Amino acid sequence: MSLSGKNDIDWAAFAAALGDIETIDKAPLVKQKSRDFFWYSPVLKRKLSGCCGDLVACPKNEKELGHVIVTAHAWRIPVTLRGGGTGNYGQAMPLDGGLIIEMTRIDEILEIGPDFVKVQAGCNIRRLNQSLRAAGRELPIYPSTERMATIGGFIAGGSGGTGSVDHGMLRDKGNIVDLTVLTMEAEPRRLVLTGEDIDIVHHAWGINGIILAMTLRTVPTRDWINCIASFDSYSAAFDAGLALAERAGLHRKLVSTVDARIAAFFKKLETRLGAGRHLLLGLVARENVGTFAEIAAAAGGRLELSLDAAEMTAAELPSVSEFSFNHTTLLVLKVDKTVTYLQVRVPAPMDSEKVAALNEVFGDEVLMHHEFIRLGGELVGIDLPVVRYSSDERLYEIIAIYEDWGFPVSDPHTCIIEDGGMKHADYRHLAAKKRFDPLGLLNSGKSREWARVKDMAPDEIEALQPDLEGG
Ligand SMILES: Cc1cc2nc3c(=O)[nH]c(=O)nc-3n(C[C@H](O)[C@H](O)[C@H](O)COP(=O)(O)OP(=O)(O)OC[C@H]3O[C@@H](n4cnc5c(N)ncnc54)[C@H](O)[C@@H]3O)c2cc1C
Repeated sequence: MSLSGKNDIDWAAFAAALGDIETIDKAPLVKQKSRDFFWYSPVLKRKLSGCCGDLVACPKNEKELGHVIVTAHAWRIPVTLRGGGTGNYGQAMPLDGGLIIEMTRIDEILEIGPDFVKVQAGCNIRRLNQSLRAAGRELPIYPSTERMATIGGFIAGGSGGTGSVDHGMLRDKGNIVDLTVLTMEAEPRRLVLTGEDIDIVHHAWGINGIILAMTLRTVPTRDWINCIASFDSYSAAFDAGLALAERAGLHRKLVSTVDARIAAFFKKLETRLGAGRHLLLGLVARENVGTFAEIAAAAGGRLELSLDAAEMTAAELPSVSEFSFNHTTLLVLKVDKTVTYLQVRVPAPMDSEKVAALNEVFGDEVLMHHEFIRLGGELVGIDLPVVRYSSDERLYEIIAIYEDWGFPVSDPHTCIIEDGGMKHADYRHLAAKKRFDPLGLLNSGKSREWARVKDMAPDEIEALQPDLEGG
């Protein structure tokens, strides 16, 4: 039986068919390359802990990648693409075992233009930003996992992050200029998707195409200053965050607020912050630090830290981004394994009193942390609370409470694409899967709806798409 226990394929023969292309077959390494950050969720931890691929292929260039695809297709082998493996919902977990294609060696920065970059999917995001900064540019948006994640994994699995406060989400028009995609067919096609076609592969979790390269918008880089202010109450921090995110004429890259009970886990900041203080974190341009301090003071807060990147490094501190988005939960999870998290939208107009009232309802069971972002041009909040887990039933009760209060929740405790942020099947994704991966080999098991539509024609599948906002 194979390592995954899911098939009886002769993996040594398959690896031999890949010729000189590097493969990994040692069980501990294959297991390591089969995991992402699914374990944030106790529900997924239970379901996916034993999930494992059978072999990892590490193509170095497009030619080798093409050969891996052709061979896997000929052998009818399930394929899961992997970048940095930092996805949160088991996105990169090989549910049906099979082949994992590690993309990190296909990582060339192909061209840095005046306001764009062409780059291969496996490029590490930190390295990409460093190269761009040397040319006076940077990515408008990147995840807090910049240090570990690949740009292809971010486009396939992510949605926004540092920069979303001013530049919106990846899906906002213009952030992704084009995607070069290889299809999973006997003779893979190389397609360049532009305009609305980008949406059929972006955030589709690699279920319908292999992103080989892309062109992304870039913006001028700034002298970003890591700023932290502290407050007596969470609602004061929230009000300051809202004012900072709303203020016209500022250059901001990040605006986050963190409950004091979460901030207590920020060990690296311990000596710099008073105990029991609620935080406003910001990355603002050097010329806007005064405004940051004024906004904090107007809400009753005080500036605790303002350091540029070099000063943060000298102080052995990571960027404030690494205290934001899903890093916040990670810092708590490192110490306390009994917690988990949720992803909650705070629609406009945002109201700190409503947030404070719900905070009271939850007591110590749910600790809030908000990111301020622009979604379709509108300023909204994303609450990524740390939740004290007791049972699945209670977790879903908490979700129901949030939704009753008018805060929609994207369930991060499922690895089924239809059940997460989108809350419905994206039939454009599935029609593209039929066109680009007709055998359903890519990231199989992640779409429940695929089983129902896989024998339909692509146009028929597309016609099922309801007129709904994606998530
Ligand atoms: C601590 C922490 C913080 C995070 N912060 C953020 C954040 O700020 N913003 C955010 O959006 N997300 C965030 N995430 C989620 C995740 O880090 C991002 O989505 C990240 O960009 C994924 O990149 P990766 O290279 O690790 O992708 P992986 O985890 O390797 O893959 C993600 C998905 O993309 C697919 N995939 C990978 N490469 C390709 C390819 N070339 N072609 C097609 N499909 C592919 C995989 O099969 C998988 O479904 C965070 C996660 C953690 C654990």
